[in-house]
Amino acid sequence: MTALISVLVVACPCALGLATPTAITVGIGRGAELGILIKSGEALEASEKLDAVAFDKTGTLTVGRPEVTDMAAFGMGEAEALRLAASAQIPSEHPLAEALVRKARQMGLDLAQAEGFEARPGKGVLAVVEGHRVVAGNRMLFADEGIAASPEMLEKASFYESQGRTAVLLALDGRGCAAFSISDQVKSMAQEAVLQLQRMNLSVVMITGDNARSAEAIAGLLGIKRVLSEVLPEDKSGEIKRMQEGGSSVAFVGDGINDAPALAQADVGIAIGSGTDVAIETGDIVLMKDDLLDAVAAIQLSRKVISRIKQNIFWAFAYNALLVPVAAGALYPAFGITFRPELAGLAMAASSVTVVSLSLLLKKYVPPAIKDR
Ligand code: ADP
Ligand code: MG
Repeated sequence: MTALISVLVVACPCALGLATPTAITVGIGRGAELGILIKSGEALEASEKLDAVAFDKTGTLTVGRPEVTDMAAFGMGEAEALRLAASAQIPSEHPLAEALVRKARQMGLDLAQAEGFEARPGKGVLAVVEGHRVVAGNRMLFADEGIAASPEMLEKASFYESQGRTAVLLALDGRGCAAFSISDQVKSMAQEAVLQLQRMNLSVVMITGDNARSAEAIAGLLGIKRVLSEVLPEDKSGEIKRMQEGGSSVAFVGDGINDAPALAQADVGIAIGSGTDVAIETGDIVLMKDDLLDAVAAIQLSRKVISRIKQNIFWAFAYNALLVPVAAGALYPAFGITFRPELAGLAMAASSVTVVSLSLLLKKYVPPAIKDR
């Protein structure tokens, strides 16, 4: 009878039941303290299994507040070209449009009313300004509209792009007449974050709607080897899907400006908190601070939590595996040892305490990526 009761008591699997939920709860709480909001246990589990991290460029790897740094006009004055381009861009919310408008205002130019405004996502805008048909955007837009730009103008645009800038081309009434160089600064922590992810054996990819040349220039600066450029906003999630079909488990880091579907498609969507509401809504993990090292920290935290769960399960089983046979009397014939029910109770309590303590220790965990902060 004593052996029966001892076995029943010692076999109680409560530590096993505690192993996973306690670690996940404490892990998610620890994330919140660090400014990393992990929305679910699944997000935590998926983050541990990742093998690739894809970044949006504009607003994620870069500050997302571009500035017009240079321009060249052909057959007209630079100021006049900027004035018309900026006028056409007033209705647009795109950061490039804002950069043109800001520059024109800084130069004290009188902007005109745009009519018949049309935005082409990932390409640019069309509008009528002071009776002129204005087209401002990239080569794709020029091709769509059947506009040919002069070799000098294209050469200038390529030159801007080779410096990691975005070139916005301007056409008036179907004739290419100016190129603007718009630069966006790389975030201070971007390079470090990329390096750390690569050290963690994750492959880092950049996905952008921007031109290949400027994308490559920025990627080179950050040490990113795989670049998908000239991806239209609606195709970003398709690119993620293709990576997943290739067998990768992919995280996408974005700010939500035309990349919310990619955030949703990724195994783990990591939204920058400074980004749009839709990103915060769609992301599985939201970074409260605008610091890319937190994306690294989120993955490190997830790995830590999952390894802690495995440790917990080990301890939960170790007690049972060791003590069930003892309680059943395995040592009685040889050594005369029996296991009293109260000791069995103590052992079971000890296993639960071990597991809960191991989980609570996660509260002290500092991800290596943000150790020095
Ligand atoms: P990203 O993926 O870097 O966030 P987008 O998809 O928003 O970029 O835009 C891709 C490209 O489309 C830009 O690099 C630019 O060439 C062109 N483009 C989009 N909107 C505009 C605009 N309002 N004015 C000029 N060019 C634009
Ligand atoms: Mg963006």
